[in-house]
Amino acid sequence: MSSSAIQAGPSTTSKKRFSEDVDASIAGNSKRTKLATVHPFFNKPNKYPKQTDAFQWHKALGACGTCLYGTNLVPACSSKVAAFDLDGTLIKSSFGKGAVKKAPKGSPPTWEWWREKVPDTLEKLNTEGYSIVIISNQAIKSTSLITWKEKIALIAAAIPSVPFRLFAAIAKDEYRKPMPGMWNELTRIYKEEGVEIDKAASFFVGDAAGRDGDFASTDRMWALNVELPFFTPEEYFLKQPMQKKFKLDGFNVVDLPDLPLFSPTHTSVVPDPIQQEIVLFVGYPGVGKSTVCQRYFVSEGYERVNQDTLGTRPKCVAAVETALEKGLSCVVDNTNRDVQTRKFYVDVARRFKVPIRCFVFTGSMELAWHNNLYRAFNQPPSTASKTENRTLVPYLAFISFRDKYEEPTLTEGFSEIKKVNWVFEGNEEERKHWSMWLQI
Ligand SMILES: [Mg+2]
Repeated sequence: MSSSAIQAGPSTTSKKRFSEDVDASIAGNSKRTKLATVHPFFNKPNKYPKQTDAFQWHKALGACGTCLYGTNLVPACSSKVAAFDLDGTLIKSSFGKGAVKKAPKGSPPTWEWWREKVPDTLEKLNTEGYSIVIISNQAIKSTSLITWKEKIALIAAAIPSVPFRLFAAIAKDEYRKPMPGMWNELTRIYKEEGVEIDKAASFFVGDAAGRDGDFASTDRMWALNVELPFFTPEEYFLKQPMQKKFKLDGFNVVDLPDLPLFSPTHTSVVPDPIQQEIVLFVGYPGVGKSTVCQRYFVSEGYERVNQDTLGTRPKCVAAVETALEKGLSCVVDNTNRDVQTRKFYVDVARRFKVPIRCFVFTGSMELAWHNNLYRAFNQPPSTASKTENRTLVPYLAFISFRDKYEEPTLTEGFSEIKKVNWVFEGNEEERKHWSMWLQI
């Protein structure tokens, strides 16, 4: 993930640019489709009309262009939004049970409505004044993306009088459902038109609903994140009773126990009276180490030693020695996952005859990954603009911590081992964003 991806908040694409930034590649594709129609194979009557010019791709959204954006006709901004997932909701899925067969090479992509009544329902919603919006995850290869874009144009041509917007997340970032990025873009576009969405009068329909046999629960979690009423395609199109039984998979901060920041709580964080020492942190990236370091130690004159800043462990060890030589205490603010890594610092403490204490950050891997996603992708815009750019720490860093982790013990040479629990700090808006379902 590139570091600029985290800046991919609402972009500043203006209304004017929408009409001008028609994606060049799709223009090329439409030419190809037209050429292909002269082949005898395509002279067979087609179930659906061919691509029209009513559907246009606009400049992709986000700092890395990872959110495709297209419009059919000229969609108005109605405060009532009827949002739909695409595959398995509006159209039959192209994978799994009952999937639509792939078209032979060189022929237009095949697709089918999920049920026959889908186009009529969309027509009706349009007549009733709803804005129709398609919200789709499409993490597919760029070669398949060309065919997919052709398919979208064909779907649009099948509902030639229904204006709609389509957003498609093509990477694992803030746009991918359940992340709320595509909704944020819609909200931004509406805001530019001076329209606020009436969430209670709007809804989202999706098939990834966490029911028995569903491959995921992403759609339901997305609806929860953006606070829209949710329906499955069966509930919405077929008027089946609402499913009460479903399972949301993934990490939910609501399940976290309420713990004090430090345990045991009866000993002081910094020795009283103050004495020279090394404090060594242990824990996943993203479980609050640097915040605790700043607030409780740097503020008391401790030197912070951090490998992300210094680059290598030998440099960290040298920085600890320099601090101790100057008579300072220091904190080793690294992950320090195993005995072998920690021994470097225990040995320095021994040589300098100063105590070394260990602070174990208890946050789980799931929490650490969640916090990582929150910091990189889902902070409220007001917070994100204030904080330094946070790049997503790769998943591998979390896996390798988990696999190589050795619980610290006093026998390693520590004078004390304290536990530091995760306690979220932030305003109401930040807590709301942090509390969302963020798995991608
Ligand atoms: Mg789906």
